[in-house]
Order: sequence, then structure tokens, then C-alpha cells
Amino acid sequence: MTASTPDRSRVLIVDDSVDIHRLLKIRLRDQNLDILTASTGAEGLRITREVKPDLILLDIDLPDCSGFDVLAELKNDPLTHDLPVIFVSGSVASGDKVRGFDLGAVDYVTKPFDMAELRARVRSALRTRRLMRMLAQRAHLDGLTGLWNRAHLDVRLRECVDAARRHGRHLSLVMADIDHFKELNDSYGHPFGDHVLQEVARVLEDVARSEDISCRYGGEEFAVILCESDCREAVKVAERFRARIEGAVWHEHEDITVTASFGVSSLSLVAIKSPEALLNSTDTALYEAKRTGRNHVVLAKGEMALGAPPAAMRTA
Ligand code: GH3
Ligand code: MG
Ligand code: MG
Repeated sequence: MTASTPDRSRVLIVDDSVDIHRLLKIRLRDQNLDILTASTGAEGLRITREVKPDLILLDIDLPDCSGFDVLAELKNDPLTHDLPVIFVSGSVASGDKVRGFDLGAVDYVTKPFDMAELRARVRSALRTRRLMRMLAQRAHLDGLTGLWNRAHLDVRLRECVDAARRHGRHLSLVMADIDHFKELNDSYGHPFGDHVLQEVARVLEDVARSEDISCRYGGEEFAVILCESDCREAVKVAERFRARIEGAVWHEHEDITVTASFGVSSLSLVAIKSPEALLNSTDTALYEAKRTGRNHVVLAKGEMALGAPPAAMRTA
């Protein structure tokens, strides 16, 4: 899975006046935006959680609560705390402006607004938002392989475990560790070692589906979150990773074969409730794969309780 920048930004207008909805929709029409509207604070919060807009234009005087309450609630929720909010208010009181900025609004525009200025402020807020997202994404990318890094794995694994448990969906984790990688480095040099890491990353990306999340866990270790896969499917995917790596031809050194060992675990394992437990269980299986000869896939202990695994599968 790679993050992409959508062409069009989504802007949510939260204002009780349908005239304002209409006016803003017309005047922002040429800005390449998808505009959504809400008339109450509750509706604004619901739509925000559903669609995660790129920008919210928020009125202060709403029928059910104040815009300040809405912003405070958005800031309290990890899913919405970083969404930029511009207050669009009839109040010119500096106390309201200060309160808005202190709560975390990125801007404050007073009604009746100068349309050219509002459009420029919307563009500016969206530009900053894009930049922030790009920086956040870069901080989660591994420089050598282009895969997601450990920090991203930690965040996404927690999200995926929560979602899978909430919706009763399958979720599996595969961990891979290149065999005798130190020897490879020592014999053929670090640059070749780096090349091997890049090629292994390419295999993971090629074999995994677009919704799966491939990460460099650290050094010569990788982890792939397999969304909606049970342990049997995950073992098959890991076996495909393994076979592709073993079968790779290294043009610089045609005599060598690179192999990797794999651990697999899944949420369906009765005792596994947390991302940490899933990581531990997968890591233990990987350790077992190393201990029992390398270059093979080991399924975590406990998965057997869910039915007989394929004959080729071993369990830790
Ligand atoms: P095992 O089969 O038990 O996994 O043995 P191993 O040699 O693969 O494992 P070990 O942990 O002893 O060595 C891992 C090596 O990976 C040591 C380290 O120098 C190397 N390494 C870690 N990160 C990088 C990197 O970014 N590039 C290169 N070329 N080597 C790296
Ligand atoms: Mg290692
Ligand atoms: Mg290794």
C-alpha cells in the first residue's frame, strides 16, 4: 500500500445557513474541491469522522452547540485532531479570535467575507495540509527500500487490529528475516547487501496485495500486515515470498542463493488481542523458523486449534 495525494481536496462547511452553503459552493467552484455541508455541530462531527475532509470551514454560532465545542471535540479525537479548521464567523471580537486560535484553528475569517481573501486562505490552508501530510509520510518511509518503516508498522498494526476486532475480520502478520545476511555483507560487501534488501522489498511489494502493508521492520527484517487474511492464506503468501526470494537470480554474483525465514501469526489465534501479542507471536514463529533450519515458513503455535493447516505448514 502506498499513500497517494488525491487530486481534489474535500472541504466541509459547517454552518446553519443554507445561503452560506450555497454561496461558498458557488464561489469555491473553480478551486478543484469536493464541497460537503453540515448545518449543525453534531452533523459536522459525524461527517468529519466519516470522510475526514482536508479542511473544515466552521461557523461559531451553530444551533446545537458552538463551533468552539466542535473544534475542541475534533482536537480530542486522534482520528480528527490534525484536520485543519478555519473559523468563519460573524464575530469580530478579538476574544473569539484568540479563543479560536488557542483551540487550534489554522485561521479565522469574519463575515461578511471578502471572497478573494477567503479563497486565498482556503488555498493556503490546503497547501499547508498537503505539506504536513507529505512530511508525515516521509517520516514513515524507509529510505533504502521505499517500504513503510517500523514507526508506520506500529501505527497501522494498532489500527488494523482494532478494526479487525471491531468488525470480526481476519488479520495476519508475516515477519521475514534474511538468512545469514551478515555473511552476505562480509563476503560481497555492504552495497550488495543493500541491493539485496531492496530486491527483497520489491518481492514483498509484488506478491502482497495493494491493501496489505509491507514494512522494513529494521536491519534485514521485514513485516507484512495482511488485511483480511486468515492464517492459511497468510502462510501461502509467506511461502510465495520465500520461493520468490530463493529463486531470485543475482546478476552480480550468479553463484549465490539468498534465502529468508518466515514467521506467521494471525488474530484468529484465541489469545491474541493486541498488536503487541500479534508481533510477539509472529516473532516467536520466526525464531522457530531460524532454529529449525531457516528458509521456511513457520506458523505460530495455537493456530492449529482453528483447523488442520496444509501439510507443508509447520507450527512453532
Ligand atoms: P540469521 O540467519 O540468524 O538471521 O543471521 P544474520 O546474519 O542474517 O543475522 P544477524 O543479526 O547476525 O546480522 C544481520 C546483519 O544485517 C548485520 C548488519 O550489519 C546487517 N544490516 C543491517 N542493516 C543493514 C543495511 O541497511 N544494509 C546492509 N548492507 N546490511 C545491514
Ligand atoms: Mg535479524
Ligand atoms: Mg538475518
